[in-house]
Amino acid sequence: MTTFLWFKRDLRIDDHPALAHAAERGAVVPLYILEPDYWALPDTSGRQRAFLQESLTVLQRQLRSLGSDLVIRVGDAVDVLQSLHAEIPVTQIVSHEETGNAWTFARDKKVSAWAKAQGIRWTELPQAGVVRRLNGRDGWAKSRNRFVAQPQINAPKALPPINLPSDPLPTLTTADHCPDRQSGGRDHALSLLGGFLTERGQTYRKDMSSPLEGAVACSRLSAHLAFGTVSGREVSQACAARQREVKGGPRDGWAGSLKSFQSRLAWRDHFMQKLEDEPALEHRCLHRAYEGMRPLEPDATRLTAWENGETGLPFLDACMRSLQATGWLNFRMRAMVVAVASYHLWLDWRSSGKHLARMFTDYEAGIHWSQMQMQSGTTGINTPRIYNPIKQGTDQDPTGTFTRRWVPELAEVPDKHLQTPWTWDGAGHVLGKTYPDPIVDVAEAARAARQKIFSMRGSADRSETQRVIHKHASRKDSAGHFVNDRAPRKTPRKARKTQADNAQLKFDL
Ligand SMILES: Cc1cc2nc3c(=O)[nH]c(=O)nc-3n(C[C@H](O)[C@H](O)[C@H](O)COP(=O)(O)OP(=O)(O)OC[C@H]3O[C@@H](n4cnc5c(N)ncnc54)[C@H](O)[C@@H]3O)c2cc1C
Repeated sequence: MTTFLWFKRDLRIDDHPALAHAAERGAVVPLYILEPDYWALPDTSGRQRAFLQESLTVLQRQLRSLGSDLVIRVGDAVDVLQSLHAEIPVTQIVSHEETGNAWTFARDKKVSAWAKAQGIRWTELPQAGVVRRLNGRDGWAKSRNRFVAQPQINAPKALPPINLPSDPLPTLTTADHCPDRQSGGRDHALSLLGGFLTERGQTYRKDMSSPLEGAVACSRLSAHLAFGTVSGREVSQACAARQREVKGGPRDGWAGSLKSFQSRLAWRDHFMQKLEDEPALEHRCLHRAYEGMRPLEPDATRLTAWENGETGLPFLDACMRSLQATGWLNFRMRAMVVAVASYHLWLDWRSSGKHLARMFTDYEAGIHWSQMQMQSGTTGINTPRIYNPIKQGTDQDPTGTFTRRWVPELAEVPDKHLQTPWTWDGAGHVLGKTYPDPIVDVAEAARAARQKIFSMRGSADRSETQRVIHKHASRKDSAGHFVNDRAPRKTPRKARKTQADNAQLKFDL
């Protein structure tokens, strides 16, 4: 009995439930399908493709070390499976469940129909704490934590040899210039994990939001988790082992940092669960009342200025330019650039979200679209945060090193005026000449956005709010930690109202 083991966003052989499952059942054809139609989508990019290619090379090496190989075929998934099935008939396909974008969701439906028609069984196994066909969030955290605590799955010791040719890979686009992109492949993932848990992570809690220190103190594992060169469970268990090591030790930052890191790993599954439960959130406001709040057709001048880091708001521009060159931003900076797009520039989250999706090497649809909506105030249940780019620049880049690195036009501007160059006496030499005037008055634009959001929240349909809470809200304790199974039904009405309706808008004006 031969099985196609279909690699998707799980490019490793360790802790790979699908590979182990397939290997137990006889001959295995390890397959990766490179789908040109996917790579032509507006939320994918050359940087992600390059990262993928590097990861495939390492995976191929790993499979060869087991006596097998990775068969890479290029084309539409059904066409590829069909022709491969003609070359080597199979009785089943095994893969991991994928929580991808609408395109991969539709593709999976087509593959499922094709497999059924051929009498081929397609088994999809979970590889993370995301639960398929979940009915509401009660019990989710418990089930997620149980999955993450289960023993890792060992890679097979050997696999039967296969002799099937791979297709040549299409050349990588050079249009997406990302000179400081992270490299793909499991070796890099393990090296980042080790370095983070033993050295870099010590100041994680303190430095994670800094544009300079954060780039070192954060794990930088996101792209690896997105492409699955390492599993979330491997990372979480390695962190847990380190937590046991530091327990009771000196108060040197490690315990707090590792705890924060574990929470982020849980957030990963929490946000991906949202898209799993409601795939439409990639295209529609989570809370229906917010549909139409911003014009669907974005103001092209504003969008382009924002995308290119040409808004005249120095810290925002530095973040956008840095993202273009590195493929990464820390969480706070991501939230801030979205806040400016969605509030100050009043752009619809779908257009700004597509640009960011392309820029992030770690693009993970489940996290990305849920976060885009949360940071744009369209979930109806989260407290909108209107980050002020001037204040963020002053707080997070007090020396101006990051801003000056990415916005060299402002090299001469004194520290005191760096984030507000229009207040500097010498501004006439720079503004409107080498660097633009600010695209909006930050305080005024925030005030206008706040008013619009306030009136929308006031009139939003309560039953829709309750639907969103039931389906998507995390069950948390008072300290904001995920708890197991606190049912909202038992939450007093008053507390529910507080959570959903009374959330105050947060500003850092
Ligand atoms: C608008 C917006 C879009 C985002 N899009 C993505 C995306 O496409 N892909 C992506 O991986 N992350 C996304 N994030 C979440 C977060 O910013 C990144 O995961 C993080 O910055 C990646 O760096 P790191 O691996 O060093 O993270 P660390 O801080 O070291 O965290 C470890 C891991 O935990 C997970 N994680 C961390 N923060 C979050 C969070 N807030 N929500 C969910 N999971 C989290 C990630 O898998 C991350 O790799 C987005 C955040 C925002 C505000």
